[in-house]
Amino acid sequence: MTRDYPQARARMVETQLRRRGLRDARVLEAFLRVPRHRFVDPALDGEAYADRALPIGFGQTISQPYMVALMTCALAPERHDRVLEVGTGSGYQAAILSRLVHTVFTIERIAPLAERARALFRELDLTNVIERVGDGSIGWISYAPYQGIIVTAGAPEIPPSLLAQLADGGRLVVPAGSRANQSLLVVTRRGEHYERREETACVFVPLLGKEGWGDD
Ligand code: SAM
Repeated sequence: MTRDYPQARARMVETQLRRRGLRDARVLEAFLRVPRHRFVDPALDGEAYADRALPIGFGQTISQPYMVALMTCALAPERHDRVLEVGTGSGYQAAILSRLVHTVFTIERIAPLAERARALFRELDLTNVIERVGDGSIGWISYAPYQGIIVTAGAPEIPPSLLAQLADGGRLVVPAGSRANQSLLVVTRRGEHYERREETACVFVPLLGKEGWGDD
């Protein structure tokens, strides 16, 4: 059966995002356009637009659409921004961001996931996404500073390298807390000062690496 994906996306945007208070028109438009079903296992096709996270292999997940949208809104993306994403996973969050900012730099520590995402970026012609395999807990110094940094895995505390790689006025969105549950933090850099607010409670897979939970 061929599914009506545009209709599934429109329903997802209306019921899961807009009705829950996410109203940024550019962000909602990106969710209407990006084919989420391409970022999930074909065996889970029927669930691609469901209101939940889904497994993507290697013990990792593609986050629930609402959480991706909430984090995207918290990042307050602007057209000229250069954004760093830590935790490429399926590539879905990077694809959403690619429609909203100038360039997305994304790092994934699990090589086969990074390779799958890279192939998808090519197929979908997302030429402003640059990816690599590595430990994103220490950021990606070559392209710093970034107007936005988004971490899609849970950290024990805010990685100092990511704070250092944030541009003045830039925003860092990062889940931080215990391994079992975290708070979604939004940090804005003002010169050498960092303003911090808590957005919501959340549960993410752990951020591993040097400034994460260490390497398992
Ligand atoms: N943003 C992803 C998406 O749209 O599908 C969801 C990412 S998943 C919740 C978290 C990802 O972070 C996993 O793929 C995991 O391998 C990755 N990760 C964990 N620690 C990392 C690190 N230090 N550097 C890079 N990636 C890391």
